Amino acid sequence: MVTLELRAPLDGIILPLEQVPDPVFSQKMVGDGLSIDPLSQVLTAPCPGTISQLHHAGHAVTLTTGEGIEILMHIGLDTVTLKGEGFTPKVTLGQQVATGDALIAFEADFLATRAKSLLTLMIVTNGEAIAGMVQASGRVRGGQDPCLTLTLAEGAGAAAEIAGKRVTSDAILIPNPTGLHARPAAVLANLSKGFASKILLQRGDDQANAKSVTSIMGLEIALGDKVVLIAEGPDSQVAIDALAPELAAGLGDEGSRPAPAPATTEPDPAKAPAPRPLSDDPNLLLGVAASPGLGVGKVYQLRREEIQVPETGDTDPRKERRKLEDALDRGKNELEALQTELKAQSDAKKAAIFAAHQELLGDPDLIDIAESAIAKGKGAAFAWQRAYTTHAERLSRLKNEIMAGRAADLRDVGRRVLGILTGQPVEEPKIPAGSILIAEELTPSDTAQLNPAEVLGFATVSGGATSHVAILARALDIPAVAGIEPRALDLPNGSDVILDGGRGQLRIHPEPAEIDRILEAKARLAAKKAADLAAAFEPATTRDGHNVEVVANIGGIEDARKGMTLGAEGVGLLRSEFLYLDRSTAPTEDEQTQIYSDISAALNGHPLIIRTLDVGGDKPLAYLPMPREENPMLGIRGVRIGLDRPEILRTQVRAILRAGKTGKIRMMFPMIATLDEIRSVKGLVEEERAKLPDAGDVELGIMVEVPAAAVLARQFAREVSFFSIGTNDLTQYGLAMDRGHPKLGAKADAMNPAILRLIALTVEGADAEGKWVGVCGGMASDPQAVPILVGLGVKELSVSVPAIPAIKAAVRARAFAECQTLAQQALAQGTAAEVRALVQSDD
Ligand code: PEP
Ligand code: MG
Repeated sequence: MVTLELRAPLDGIILPLEQVPDPVFSQKMVGDGLSIDPLSQVLTAPCPGTISQLHHAGHAVTLTTGEGIEILMHIGLDTVTLKGEGFTPKVTLGQQVATGDALIAFEADFLATRAKSLLTLMIVTNGEAIAGMVQASGRVRGGQDPCLTLTLAEGAGAAAEIAGKRVTSDAILIPNPTGLHARPAAVLANLSKGFASKILLQRGDDQANAKSVTSIMGLEIALGDKVVLIAEGPDSQVAIDALAPELAAGLGDEGSRPAPAPATTEPDPAKAPAPRPLSDDPNLLLGVAASPGLGVGKVYQLRREEIQVPETGDTDPRKERRKLEDALDRGKNELEALQTELKAQSDAKKAAIFAAHQELLGDPDLIDIAESAIAKGKGAAFAWQRAYTTHAERLSRLKNEIMAGRAADLRDVGRRVLGILTGQPVEEPKIPAGSILIAEELTPSDTAQLNPAEVLGFATVSGGATSHVAILARALDIPAVAGIEPRALDLPNGSDVILDGGRGQLRIHPEPAEIDRILEAKARLAAKKAADLAAAFEPATTRDGHNVEVVANIGGIEDARKGMTLGAEGVGLLRSEFLYLDRSTAPTEDEQTQIYSDISAALNGHPLIIRTLDVGGDKPLAYLPMPREENPMLGIRGVRIGLDRPEILRTQVRAILRAGKTGKIRMMFPMIATLDEIRSVKGLVEEERAKLPDAGDVELGIMVEVPAAAVLARQFAREVSFFSIGTNDLTQYGLAMDRGHPKLGAKADAMNPAILRLIALTVEGADAEGKWVGVCGGMASDPQAVPILVGLGVKELSVSVPAIPAIKAAVRARAFAECQTLAQQALAQGTAAEVRALVQSDD
């Protein structure tokens, strides 16, 4: 009888597995063993062996002994959800270890506040390899005291060959939010063990034994991964029929949702819209603001009929596969033509959306799912409809709002191909002029085709403010509300409604007097807008001849071009984040140099201020992993990232310096709070400048967004050439109110006299050193704030592109002397409301 002694992997108290508050472990679904309530913070090897599995979340490791015994050690319960936080693996996959070697270090205090329990499991997962085990009890010392003695089974590890037919399941998308971690892996392994056949779980080229928890965990299958089950043996078909639906349904994991049925069958109750707040006023329907503006018009319900398709196709699957390939090719060609047409109309934003659709059509996962259904006898149309609806449902449930928003894109492009496959192209609805569209969902294609002269606004039951539909609505200047109460779908066609896109509301049964009032106000606004636009290229000079520069806040070259058509005198803030987000690697120096030079060229000699990367905390980058922070707004954000990880900042600095050769470019650093920070950044810039033979003459400035920088403005002014006040953050930090907070956001008004005083201090400090001050926060785009900012001595207003003509007009509306008086009065007020009243009464 061969035995194997396992030492305690931790200091702690042994607890029988049956007492672990998780049935997967207490019912020994993963295997038999014990748990330890830890008193130390380093998990060590209980015996010599090889690391055969190390979970990417760092919370679990498997050691395989020379005798073939697999020992899983799992720190805490549900700790996979921490995604590695609090764990530091000390070994790598395949490494040989000796008894007592450190495997994973963990922060017990941190885990204690995040995890369900710190109980650490030590389990033999291939129970068939042992004939018995004896457990110790009580207190044990890690690496020293034996805690499990295993009796090995005879001939352990010899795999019996089982003859029989090989059956493969359909492709399955994993619905488990945290992938196949220990719990669902154990469920699958246990279910699989109920069959005599050999069962494999396959993802791409990787395979795992579906009867082994560790083997399954070794694949590190994540949410949305596509897998197949393969069974080979006497009960292979029965096994696949039983296991595939369980796997597709999440193996009982909380939060998993099974893949939806094809659109032609019963609706999925999980699709029901989330409950939303209801207003007390029965005539007011609430949603979320998707595109600002007021629309007064008549309801037009836009309904999309589901295309009905037969389930089965030609008996020869090759013919169905060819049909699908042809339809995909035609779909791509249609999208190509659409993009060419949109580009010819200088509508790059819309063209980019359809380019993304083209990408979606090439998604190998999507095509694989459709093809695997075709291989099982389904018709091309049915297989395609099921593939894209399944994928879209999955996307729409993701927590990431932007990814969820892509579900509408997928349905849109999916329907386009389905129309081609069935010969029922998507019909263009005839929408009467003066309509407010109401729909369950609008696709980006629907939205791009809306004519603002006919459609005065729209409200959709699904969607959010970041969807492509909302982006298109804003580009088309059509008021829109997303997530409206579903009762909007019951409103009769032709009934009067008022859509308030800015507030995310739809008013039904409005009084005629209210309609008249809104129409009059709209007419007045339209007249003012036309007059402002006509004067957009005039300078922004006060009545008594004081000039203020009005420049644009931009997020890319399209905004720059648009700004120039609206009278911008340059760019006061290029939010360079657009270059870094939504990609898996950082942009290269050459790539950045090219883009900055292109933007500068689009400004025809006007200045361009490039703000260096301003992410971190709440806005993480995929290729720049950052630890989670308690207070991201007060953490490694803005320039602090650049100082913490200088490689990314150095690359950007070099690109800006090189682009500076081609135009009038300034460099600005966000979130500067201390003199040390700006001095360090300047040092970094000078080092790079010295190394570059082709550096341009680029001035340096800082954003004043932290009260400390405003208070010490004079000292900061000695360090740089200019300031630009970021009033969004200055208000957030000045009033200690989160700018995105649902309750506080609206109170965080930059017109609060406390913030005005910080602005006044900034200008005073800059003036004393002969430097200039601009404002690039949202306050500069508020016409009411303009006279006060001008009166406080701000020289440049950097505003959102559409606001340029109105802000120039607001500067021209008064004399500088008036603005100065108003500014002094504003500083003496007590509240933002009092300041606003002052400006209004003066109008
Ligand atoms: C600001 O904080 O005012 C600002 C312009 O920067 P952002 O809004 O990009 O944080
Ligand atoms: Mg800011």
